[in-house]
Amino acid sequence: MKIGIVAYQGSFEEHALQTKRALDNLKIQGDIVAVKKPNDLKDVDAIIIPGGESTTIGVVAQKLGVLDELKEKINSGIPTLGTCAGAIMLAKDVTDAKVGKKSQPLIGSMDISVIRNYYGRQRESFEATVDLSEIGGGKTRVVFIRAPAIVKTWGDAKPLSKLNDVIIMAMEKNMVATTFHPELSSTTVIHEFLIKMAKK
Ligand code: GLN
Repeated sequence: MKIGIVAYQGSFEEHALQTKRALDNLKIQGDIVAVKKPNDLKDVDAIIIPGGESTTIGVVAQKLGVLDELKEKINSGIPTLGTCAGAIMLAKDVTDAKVGKKSQPLIGSMDISVIRNYYGRQRESFEATVDLSEIGGGKTRVVFIRAPAIVKTWGDAKPLSKLNDVIIMAMEKNMVATTFHPELSSTTVIHEFLIKMAKK
């Protein structure tokens, strides 16, 4: 199995480590590829789009021709996990809590509305216990870093977890979006979920 992780900025290393742990737990052989050029996406069985700054990731990916390739792969059904900025990249509708709607390069395949920087200044980063039981996990401590919120799902997109009535994880077909950072938590359940999807 080959798992491509978009590697322009943000937590590539942590996602790679967490993916390795998840592969070990599931006793699956897998290779991790740092995705920087379109060719890096060749033959991938799963894709991870990490956190970072969604505008930067989008602009760089577009410049290097990776954005179109990502769109094509994801729309063709390759299992994909987008975390934080990655969730923003997947969304069809994006607003910034402060500046409102501003166009930015997106993958735009998921029927979710996302508000960037939802939790504002005083809570730019925080930890919380979230419920991952919908995907076979338990209550887990995770970290939110200048996190977005998923404020609406429609069509085939469904909320998988909420924190204080705000959606923090959603899924549509082959796509999973989390507003928190699963690579910075003790559980590998989200990465295992992605790998299991890719194995089917
Ligand atoms: N605030 C970032 C954005 O709007 C996302 C933060 C993150 O990925 N940790 O793109």
